[in-house]
Order: sequence, then structure tokens, then C-alpha cells
Amino acid sequence: MEEKKKKKVKTIKIDLDKCNGCKACEVICSAFHANPPYSSNNPARSRVRMIREPIRDIYVPVYAGEYTPAECMGRDKYIIDGKEYDECALCRAACPSRNVFKEPDSGLPLKCDMCEGEEEPLCVKWCITDALTYEEREEDIDEEPKAPEVDASLKSMIDKYGMDKIADAITRMSQKG
Ligand code: SF4
Ligand code: SF4
Repeated sequence: MEEKKKKKVKTIKIDLDKCNGCKACEVICSAFHANPPYSSNNPARSRVRMIREPIRDIYVPVYAGEYTPAECMGRDKYIIDGKEYDECALCRAACPSRNVFKEPDSGLPLKCDMCEGEEEPLCVKWCITDALTYEEREEDIDEEPKAPEVDASLKSMIDKYGMDKIADAITRMSQKG
């Protein structure tokens, strides 16, 4: 019988009860993703963002997820412990309706890459309260990702940002490697 291919699933588990809002995760993420790495520290470059409500002692780290070329049709509003948060405040997407999770220099979307190349995500390493913990597991893969899906998402990025900005971002990412 043919052995199934495996994929590695990486998870950062977030324990809100332990987070104290110190923002060390934002600081190290933005420094690691500076070009060259560690040359600057700009939280706007971070792939994790702290939503804070110090009076109520509520801190929620939100990780940058997928880029989406279109705004979603609805809006979410969360009420946590009586405090109502802005629309989209806890959303992970880089999308056209707000400036969150966008590279400050180029406007290109940001996405958490789990600190590719590092043994452990740096935000996890720097979180002294252990609000963040890292887990890995393997899952079976049924089929390879379909090339047309990859092409479509690349094309939508090029349509939105232009070939030059995309090429520039790829060059910067490859320099990090
Ligand atoms: S895992 Fe790495 S890239 Fe993702 S938010 Fe944490 S420090 Fe940033
Ligand atoms: S480093 Fe940990 S405790 Fe500090 S803000 Fe980030 S998740 Fe919260």
C-alpha cells in the first residue's frame, strides 16, 4: 500500500489568562523581520499584534493570517468582559479595509511565518509568562496543492501591488534565508 505523505502542522497555543500585555512578542517579531534582521524594531512590522484593555486586565495577542484581496461582506464585533471591541479588531486577515498587518514601507501584506528557519517561534521564546506555547504535529496529506490555486492567489497579489513590489518582497525574503 502506498504510504501517505505527511505535512507538519505548527500551532501556537495562546493562554489569555497568562498574557500580561508586555508586547515582547511584538518587539522580537518586528526585529526578526527587519531588513537586515535585528537592525530595527518597528511594531508595525510585527506579525503578532496585542489588543489591550489594561483597565480590565484583558490582553489578546492576534496573529497575522492570510492576505485577502477583498473585504469580507460582514463585520464581527466582540464584547469581552463588558468591553466592546472595534469591528474587525480580532481578525487575522491583511485586507483592503484597514492598515493592520501591512508592511509599513511597501504596504505589502504581512503573515506569520512561524519564524521560518528558527527552532522555535521567537515570540514563544520571548514570552516570559508562558502565555504562548508551541506545538508541532504531523498529518496525512490527501493530495498536493493544486497549481491553479497558487497561480490565482499570486495573480491577485500582483494585480493589487504590482510586479515590482512583489519581486522586491521576494528578494527581501530570500535574503533572510
Ligand atoms: S511565530 Fe515568528 S513570525 Fe509569527 S508572530 Fe511569532 S515571532 Fe512573528
Ligand atoms: S510576550 Fe507573552 S505576555 Fe507579553 S504580550 Fe506577548 S503573549 Fe502577552
